[in-house]
Amino acid sequence: MKKIKKQDVPALLVKWQQDFTVFAPSKKSGVSRMEVWDGQDTAFLDRNRNTVIPPKANFLLNIEKMFDFRKEGGSYTLEPAGGEAPRQLLFGIHPCDARATAIIDMVFKDAYEDNYYLGRRRNSVLVGMGCTSPYDSCFCTSLGFGPAEAADVDMMLTDIGDAFVIEEVTDKGKELLAGAEGVTEATADDTKKADAAKAAAAAKVTRKINVEEIRKRIPLSFDDKKFWEKVSAKCVSCGICTFLCPTCYCFDINDEMLKSGSGARYRNWDCCSFPLYTKMPAENPRAEKWRRVRQKVHHKYAFYPELFNIIACTGCGRCIRQCPVNWDITQILASLPAGAPAAAEKK
Ligand code: SF4
Ligand code: SF4
Repeated sequence: MKKIKKQDVPALLVKWQQDFTVFAPSKKSGVSRMEVWDGQDTAFLDRNRNTVIPPKANFLLNIEKMFDFRKEGGSYTLEPAGGEAPRQLLFGIHPCDARATAIIDMVFKDAYEDNYYLGRRRNSVLVGMGCTSPYDSCFCTSLGFGPAEAADVDMMLTDIGDAFVIEEVTDKGKELLAGAEGVTEATADDTKKADAAKAAAAAKVTRKINVEEIRKRIPLSFDDKKFWEKVSAKCVSCGICTFLCPTCYCFDINDEMLKSGSGARYRNWDCCSFPLYTKMPAENPRAEKWRRVRQKVHHKYAFYPELFNIIACTGCGRCIRQCPVNWDITQILASLPAGAPAAAEKK
């Protein structure tokens, strides 16, 4: 393991800026997100919590042009937009968001290869930073990892006060540190402090869900209309929980016509909570709100595990913190009925 003093981190970021566009957590207009590092802001070195806007926005842009098109004679000419994805380094991504990135990778390289997404992923390096003060809405430890887990990143930093202990997780991570000034070998005392910091952070995650019980109950709940009507009653279908969820990845596609026969195709984030979701290709099969709320919860805790053998929720807590009506996924999961509904209540 290695170590770097906090005061030496800016110089390291400057060095990395020679090869990458460096992003770091930044808070502007009250909303934190990964922003291109301005060479000045270092508040993120001591603000060890996840951002409001998740880093998925660095890979699946909230809106992007896919290509321009032009009609010539009887056929269309397409001109891809964007070119090669820039090399980006995300400094300070948190373990829950790193895991979320690995989770949505599965979709974008499974049945088909989404080159828009994968181009950015392949050209990215993730430098993780463990949480030292998780929110009370976080529940990552129930999902098999913790707030300082060194996984799904290229290197991981653990705050030990005036310095970070660095774990090099991948070869990319090792290469990043080659020849870096201010990086030294961690001492036994440093690693002891890092272990203590990780244990302290994990102990602060007091919100829990019972994954084993949820796995048993969730398939039984699917037909329980009464239950889903009850737990969806206060949702206003605003879509905030989906847009801010690091593992939600739905998008819509729209053509902007400039003049007859030419224009551009765009894609933008979409949300299964919206009544108009999937309206364009067909009718929305989930016209009632309770069906859409059921979809959101089942997608994460039933459908995704069936497809990819992993729960598509990292317990980051954003959907709890940001919901305008205090809808709380952990309460819904805890109240899943123990058995299937009676035939008359099924839908
Ligand atoms: S943020 Fe809350 S109100 Fe908005 S869609 Fe999600 S659960 Fe419903
Ligand atoms: S469902 Fe909620 S807690 Fe789970 S990953 Fe999405 S935003 Fe985070």
